Amino acid sequence: MRCPGCGTDDDRVVDSRPALAGDAIRRRRECRSCGLRFTTFERVELPELAVRKRSGRLVAFDRARVLDGMARAAKGRVDLPDLESAAAEVERELRALGGREVSSEQVGLQVLQQLRTLDDVAYVRFASVYKDFQGPEDFELELSSLRKAAPPKTA
Ligand SMILES: [Zn+2]
Repeated sequence: MRCPGCGTDDDRVVDSRPALAGDAIRRRRECRSCGLRFTTFERVELPELAVRKRSGRLVAFDRARVLDGMARAAKGRVDLPDLESAAAEVERELRALGGREVSSEQVGLQVLQQLRTLDDVAYVRFASVYKDFQGPEDFELELSSLRKAAPPKTA
């Protein structure tokens, strides 16, 4: 690693420790030439994950967009940190499928699964857009399947 002080490419690592909740390794380095200490981060580069839209178009998976959609459905009901970890979980689940390409349906279903565990209202709001509800009977249907799937939480 080139020293930011003198530009010499000769350092020794004086300390390594996990950073950012285990997603990265932080290394303290010391330049052998000028003695300057500096820090580098090493993190895993995940392979690209692509989403096949209904139109057939392929776009890069974007966790921020997933989070955005979830936040809109959960507006005023779920805290952002909870939504952020749910969006991370969506990405983990999609990557766990093992392919480099997922369909937008698979993304939507993962989002629904996460919202279901967070908040029923957010879940139904998202479902109404995702499943393209046409009328109140669609909501009723979704709600009854929700009640069947999981007994209502005792608040
Ligand atoms: Zn140096």
